[in-house]
Amino acid sequence: MIISRQKEFKEILRNLNEWNIFIIGCGKCAAKMRVGGEPEVIEMGKKLRRAGKNITGWTVLSSACSIPSWEDVLSCNPGVKKSDALLVMSCGGGVSAISRLAGITVYPALDTESLGGVCGDENLKELCGMCGECKVWIFGGICPISQCSKGLLNGPCGGAVDGKCEVDERSCAWDEIYKKLEKLGKLEYLEIIHEPKDHTKKERSGKV
Ligand code: SF4
Ligand code: SF4
Repeated sequence: MIISRQKEFKEILRNLNEWNIFIIGCGKCAAKMRVGGEPEVIEMGKKLRRAGKNITGWTVLSSACSIPSWEDVLSCNPGVKKSDALLVMSCGGGVSAISRLAGITVYPALDTESLGGVCGDENLKELCGMCGECKVWIFGGICPISQCSKGLLNGPCGGAVDGKCEVDERSCAWDEIYKKLEKLGKLEYLEIIHEPKDHTKKERSGKV
């Protein structure tokens, strides 16, 4: 799941130069995170109206990053064609996909933070750094690339105090990795020396 948070409203308003705005939400991750589902889209519409914008309509796509037919979106949402700009309440993937299809400016209402997940009621952030070469089992399922502040594959750095990272307020990922491997009876994994990451495996070209 993509973890996103809403931008501050004043920032959204500062970016939106246009008058006629259509709002698009996302029924997947953004809805689950409660930052771009129907209630948030409706609330955003109210706030923008109060700020003087003309809201030409709104919709929540089943998945903003996966749009089989833009023509279908247009036929179901005539307000799009009457708009000067779109405000998209999804992750950057959805904003970019819609920007390719819409012939008008598309503004993001969210900031995309990380690739995470959901366990029960808990939203988990930064579970994966999308390195293209997954070895997370060696770390007991706790990815040091995304969860160690220094991204250390051969940790720990030695700076943790009482289990807290020296860089930020989070628990030291390597402390957690140790505890998890101990629980799994796999502490021998800590003896593996990891070569530097092969960064050519990480997709950055933007090609599909
Ligand atoms: S090892 Fe790479 S692919 Fe696997 S969880 Fe970590 S960043 Fe993601
Ligand atoms: S204290 Fe732990 S989480 Fe923080 S940078 Fe060092 S090894 Fe990584």
